[in-house]
Amino acid sequence: MPTRRTKRGSARTPLRVDADVLVCGSSFAGLAVARELTGSAARVLLIDRYEIGERQTSACAAPTEWLAAMGVEASIKQTFGDLVIHTPHLTTRMSLPWTFSTFDYAILCERLFERCDARFETATIKGPGDAGAVETDRGELRAPLIVDCLGWRRVLGQRGYQPPGAPLSRGLEVHPGGGSDDLEIWIDRGYVPAGYSWSFPAADEVRVGVGSFDPGFHVKDSTVRLARDLDRDAVRYQGNWIPHRLREATEGAVFFVGDSAGHCLPLTAEGIRTAFYFGIACGRELRRVVDGLATRDTALRRYGAFSARHRWHFDWLLRVQRLVPRVPPRLLAAALRGMSEEEFVRWSFVHYLRIAHPAYAHELAARPQPRRRALRLAA
Ligand SMILES: Cc1cc2nc3c(=O)[nH]c(=O)nc-3n(C[C@H](O)[C@H](O)[C@H](O)COP(=O)(O)OP(=O)(O)OC[C@H]3O[C@@H](n4cnc5c(N)ncnc54)[C@H](O)[C@@H]3O)c2cc1C
Repeated sequence: MPTRRTKRGSARTPLRVDADVLVCGSSFAGLAVARELTGSAARVLLIDRYEIGERQTSACAAPTEWLAAMGVEASIKQTFGDLVIHTPHLTTRMSLPWTFSTFDYAILCERLFERCDARFETATIKGPGDAGAVETDRGELRAPLIVDCLGWRRVLGQRGYQPPGAPLSRGLEVHPGGGSDDLEIWIDRGYVPAGYSWSFPAADEVRVGVGSFDPGFHVKDSTVRLARDLDRDAVRYQGNWIPHRLREATEGAVFFVGDSAGHCLPLTAEGIRTAFYFGIACGRELRRVVDGLATRDTALRRYGAFSARHRWHFDWLLRVQRLVPRVPPRLLAAALRGMSEEEFVRWSFVHYLRIAHPAYAHELAARPQPRRRALRLAA
């Protein structure tokens, strides 16, 4: 378990900070939003209940191109050009048209934060306050622009979202020491009736886990069994709920990014690059407000529409997520054999990456000189 560095007790003094943009949650989504505002005139305040990079929130595997685009190559632990897929009737090795890398969460977050000119404070967000306010354990915080990057709970939303009724998958992994050369996944109902299992090596440790699309299926026994089958120790647990349905990306005057907006891709549960992608999109809209080019209402509308334009990708992946567990295992093996053809792998993975392509990180909008202006909220 990581040691706790977060301020506690008397160190948790009331917060009085003037901010133009309040970014709640300082993981992938929050840091991407703040990074996009770097060099603007905005006073950006990043909040999290933990120190930056203190609590790893995933198996930390992402397309290498995205890590390069965000300038965080230094966090990379291992890179893979192949994906090995196991089913009870077939094991296949797919040679990917682009690579995945596992990375060190703490280093990635620190490197992203170094690229922000935001102020960071630890505080626990309790929920929305009056218009333009957020309730925290260190008092009320106010800002004209508020972003919820707090993960699946969507703390600043008005409507609750609770498992097992909500469209959430559950994921649990262990992090034993050791190594391997292969990025592997298992589609095997012996471990999980609807979902998949994984082994993601990261140089000196292996992240072994099980994800269930059915929130009612408890994954702990399966995770322990998979670790044992791989001759790994079931140590250093890490798990969370994973949203698998896109939600509205704005509500009232609040912007939602990453898991809080359901931006994690169904079927694959890939949510890091989408948190970067939609974080950049949100940051660009906020920047237009700060630069006096748009009102907050316009930014809310444009960002909401941007997110909604991706809905069909999310809906398609959700359909496949629902279909795969119903396919008889032998038929699944036959289908997978066909899908392992080089041409098909290239076609499908190139399209899959396009859903949130790393080139988007480089498409910088024309940037006026930073100058502090009064933010316009409505037309
Ligand atoms: C076991 C597991 C493995 C996964 N593996 C991968 C993977 O390999 N690759 C991939 O792409 N995706 C993976 N995912 C999905 C991925 O982790 C998420 O989609 C991603 O973390 C979303 O980023 P985010 O910034 O939106 O939210 P999060 O990373 O969840 O960050 C939310 C932040 O908000 C803070 N916070 C939450 N509540 C409060 C509060 N009340 N007050 C203050 N702060 C708060 C948290 O401390 C955290 O820093 C995995 C998920 C799980 C559960």
